[in-house]
Amino acid sequence: MIKDQLGRGLTDLRISLTDRCNLRCSYCMPKEIFGPDYVFLRKAEWLRFSELDDLVAAFVRLGVRKIRLTGGEPLLRPGLAKYIHGLKHLHRIEDIAMTTNGLRLAERAGELKLAGLDRVTVSLDALDPEIAGTMNGRGVSPRAVLAGIAAAQHEGFQVKVNMVVERGVNDGEILPMARYFKQRGISLRFIEFMDVGNHNGWKMERVVSGREILSAIQTEFEVEAVDLSSSQQVAKRYRYADGSAEFGLITSVTQPFCGGCTRARISADGKLYTCLFASSGLDLKQILRANDYDRDQLFGLLSRHWGARGDRYSELRSQTKQAAHKVEMSYIGG
Ligand code: SAM
Ligand code: SF4
Ligand code: SF4
Repeated sequence: MIKDQLGRGLTDLRISLTDRCNLRCSYCMPKEIFGPDYVFLRKAEWLRFSELDDLVAAFVRLGVRKIRLTGGEPLLRPGLAKYIHGLKHLHRIEDIAMTTNGLRLAERAGELKLAGLDRVTVSLDALDPEIAGTMNGRGVSPRAVLAGIAAAQHEGFQVKVNMVVERGVNDGEILPMARYFKQRGISLRFIEFMDVGNHNGWKMERVVSGREILSAIQTEFEVEAVDLSSSQQVAKRYRYADGSAEFGLITSVTQPFCGGCTRARISADGKLYTCLFASSGLDLKQILRANDYDRDQLFGLLSRHWGARGDRYSELRSQTKQAAHKVEMSYIGG
C-alpha cells in the first residue's frame, strides 16, 4: 500500500458532489459571504459521474476502501442514487457513507438505501429551534432534520449525528442533544469548532474543547471510554454506562489526530486536496479531460502525489502562520 512522508496510507476518499447548499451555517458558509452574489461552480465545472468512476478506480488501486459523499449538500446533486448504485456495484467499495444536513433525507432515505448507501451522518447543532435556526443561517427548524434522521433509522441505516459546538452559541445544547440521541440509540459526535475556510470568524476562545464537552456530559451521565488505545483515531469514542448509545468527541483543535489522517478529498470540480486546511489542490479534471489521458498515468500521478504528502496542519496550528487563503469547507467537503 502507498504511504505518504509520515507513513500514512490512503484508505478514505471524500468526494464533494457540489459546493452548493440549502443552508448557510455560520461556521461553514456564513450568509454574509455566501449571499446572492456569491459565485458557485457552474454545473459544467463539476466532475461528471463517469470521470469520478475513473478516479475512484485509481484510488481503489491505491488502497481506498471507504468513500464518503459530501459537499456542500450532497442531496442537491442530481443523479445521486444512481451514482451510489454504480459505486457499490462497479467498484465494490466496502463502505459508502454520506454526510448531509438531512433537510431532504426523509423523502430520499429509502431510495438511497436501495442504491447501496451504507451509512449516513446527519449534521445538527441544536434542538432549540431558535439556536438551530441562527446557526444554520436560514432560520430552519430542526424538525425536518429530525424527521430525516428517523426515516434513515427506519430504513435500517446506521446513523450518526454531527454537532459543531461553538462557545456562547450552542454550548447550552450539549446536554439536550446528548439526552435526545442517547434515548434513540444514535451516536452523537461533538465536533470542536474548526478554523476551516476564510470567513467563519474563528477564534480559539470560541472553541469548546472535547474535555469540556465530556465534563458537561458527565454531570448527568456515567460514561466509559470505548477504545482510546490509538491516538490515530479521528473520534474519541465513549459509551453511556447503561449501554444505551455511544458518543464521540472530534477534537481536531485541542487534540489533533494528523498522525492517523488517511483521507484524500476531491472537490466537486475535481481538485485533489490532501488536507482540509490546504490552499490549493491538484487539478485532476484537467488530466481526465486531456486528449492523451491515460489511466496508468493518472495512477502514477496520484501515487507520487500521495507519496510526497507531509500535511499535518492541526498539529502545527499554534506554531505556523495561518495560510493567506484556505480552501472553503463547503467546496472541499467536511
Ligand atoms: N452539508 C453537509 C452537512 O452539513 O452535513 C455536508 C458538508 S459539511 C461541510 C460536513 C461537515 O462539516 C458537517 O458535519 C459540518 O458540521 C462540518 N463543519 C463545517 N464547518 C465546520 C467548522 N468550521 N468546524 C467544524 N466542523 C465543521
Ligand atoms: Fe451547508 Fe453543511 Fe456547510 Fe451547513 S455545514 S452550510 S449544511 S455545507
Ligand atoms: Fe488531516 Fe490536515 Fe486535518 Fe491533519 S489537519 S487531520 S492532515 S486534514
